Amino acid sequence: MEYRRLGKSGLHISELSFGSWITFGNQIGDNTSENLMAMAYDAGINFFDNAEVYAGGKSEEVMGQILQKMNWSRDSYLVSSKVYFGKMGLKDSKPTQKGLNRKHIVEACEQALQRFKVDYLDLFFCHRPDKTTPIEETVFSMHNLIQQGKILYWGTSEWSAQEIMEAHMVAKQNHLIGPTMEQPQYNMLVRDKVEVEFSQIYKTVGLGTTVWSPLASGLLTGKYSKGMGEDFRMNREELSWLKDKTVIEENIEKANKLGDIANELGISTPQLALAWCLKNENVSTVILGASKTYQLEENLKATEHKVLLTSEVLEKIEVILNNKPQLPQF
Ligand code: NDP
Repeated sequence: MEYRRLGKSGLHISELSFGSWITFGNQIGDNTSENLMAMAYDAGINFFDNAEVYAGGKSEEVMGQILQKMNWSRDSYLVSSKVYFGKMGLKDSKPTQKGLNRKHIVEACEQALQRFKVDYLDLFFCHRPDKTTPIEETVFSMHNLIQQGKILYWGTSEWSAQEIMEAHMVAKQNHLIGPTMEQPQYNMLVRDKVEVEFSQIYKTVGLGTTVWSPLASGLLTGKYSKGMGEDFRMNREELSWLKDKTVIEENIEKANKLGDIANELGISTPQLALAWCLKNENVSTVILGASKTYQLEENLKATEHKVLLTSEVLEKIEVILNNKPQLPQF
């Protein structure tokens, strides 16, 4: 495992990390979650990603129980939460239970600490921008949590470059700590934010990135070309909106063609897709997801396969991808 700086910060994060969306406390049993985390940690992964809204808080509880049971030294890993949607999601949370206002930021942090049973969160993300809260209120709230020792770094998720810069401006004007990292979607089908929109702010503010859905929720494994498996994520009712926009002919065709390249290289399609994300030096860490241990075992090898992606191979990939992104943008 290699480690990268999280933007301009001094924090060194494993280039592959592990997240629990859809899986922990929901799709998979707690034993599988435990085996996955143990496998990830043993392979050198030091960042585990989570959010208040994942499985209505249960994902953080399960992860917290595993952290307690494993008894890994607290200084050997990073754990995150994200605030905005509220535990029950935007629709079902009460007005005071969501958003990026001071009240919800403070309470969401406190509740995440309780669910995880840890004294501080290493990374705390604003899960989406909140147009109903002044940016000053959010930046001050995050800064104060750092001052109180409840979080160590704060960041954003699916914010625009302009919104991130506004947060930095407020921080600078008021001598506060600005956002260290952004969590955008990044994979072979969704590239614009990471490759184009943020291109300047890696340099100007030293933005770090913890990128999500590197396999486009499994589509880039190529497995959807053989039809919908009963245990596939996209078969889940709550994700029908994502399936409709992702599991479409054009994307399946691309995944198949990428599979041919992977075959030529003697690696699997998911390994190719993950190694491709890792080739981008503005990516601080690629957050993996897995519902089965064999998947994680396979995906962890992507770090070794980066070297296979020569400029010639990358050009071949580019020819396949050189179409408009087909996934929903967040
Ligand atoms: P991926 O795009 O990598 O999708 C993971 C899923 O793909 C697995 O659960 C599994 O689904 C399938 N899969 C993975 N590896 C294989 C394999 N080798 N062979 C076959 N199938 C495979 O990542 P996620 O979408 O899970 O995102 C990763 C993390 O990013 C999340 O856990 C979360 O922490 C974070 N995230 C953040 C968001 C944000 O808004 N900030 C949004 C979404 C995610 P299946 O069950 O079908 O087998």
